[in-house]
Amino acid sequence: MNDSSSARKAGPGHTHEAVTEHALRQRAGVPYEVERVVCLACRRVLAERTLRRAAA
Ligand SMILES: [Zn+2]
Repeated sequence: MNDSSSARKAGPGHTHEAVTEHALRQRAGVPYEVERVVCLACRRVLAERTLRRAAA
């Protein structure tokens, strides 16, 4: 979680390397799935949207 030393330094103005990740979240005890587009280089979340309620 706090392993920032292994994070690749991404300079400002670089071209984001967008990759899509899926993650499970919980809201009010209800699990749901989110799709996130993050940059491989700087780990910035470029986009995020809720897909649907996750199946048990
Ligand atoms: Zn980036």
